[in-house]
Amino acid sequence: MTPVAAARERILVIEDEPDIREVVEFNLRREGFRVSGAETAEEGLEKVQSEFPDAILLDIMLPGMSGLELCALLKSDPDLRAIPVIMVTAKDDAEDVIAGLEAGADDYISKPFSPRVLIARVKAVVRRGTWDAEQLRGDRLLADGVVIDSSSHRVTVEGQDVEVTATEFRLLHYLATNRGRVFTRNHLLTRVMGESATLVDRNIDVHVGAIRRKLGKSRSLLETVRGVGYRFRDSPSPSQS
Ligand code: CA
Repeated sequence: MTPVAAARERILVIEDEPDIREVVEFNLRREGFRVSGAETAEEGLEKVQSEFPDAILLDIMLPGMSGLELCALLKSDPDLRAIPVIMVTAKDDAEDVIAGLEAGADDYISKPFSPRVLIARVKAVVRRGTWDAEQLRGDRLLADGVVIDSSSHRVTVEGQDVEVTATEFRLLHYLATNRGRVFTRNHLLTRVMGESATLVDRNIDVHVGAIRRKLGKSRSLLETVRGVGYRFRDSPSPSQS
């Protein structure tokens, strides 16, 4: 793969293990990214504030402040929260993944990871902003034959109106506007359903199931992330990118 012209974004790698950091930095540079590294969360925070990177790869297990603490700190700062954070978690540790997402991480990658997966994740979070903007036309979100219109609260699939409940609309709209981001059930429950959710409303799986049935052929837009939660697919087709 040749580095594309747009891939001049700066990526900050916060990782205390020098070997891993070196490999990650090498692979990112080879793709044309500008890269800086930090060994601790504290050093990372200074670099975030001085360099304002386009994305951050953040290890969870760090000496001193943990990756989770730093992530929560960044996501509570209005000036920094827009910077995508990819959490680096231990292999198959769903608890770490959930904790990372609840701290506000935009995505995660599990150790050990292949350079290919690493580059794909970084490109996805960096590109997401652009892709979202292209897909957003006024109040209408478009994706694979599905139109989600927030002004009329209507959903159409291949031009056909689809009846959705108010709860289903909120859930679908929230996932679609945050395309590619994985959300835990708990996050969706508190952020989408809110405090007023009745007992009937509280089963996210039931709502997602109902939305999928209504989306028909486009059902694969709503992806289940095993052991974690749900996301709206972030590329036009799963076979691409
Ligand atoms: Ca570590």
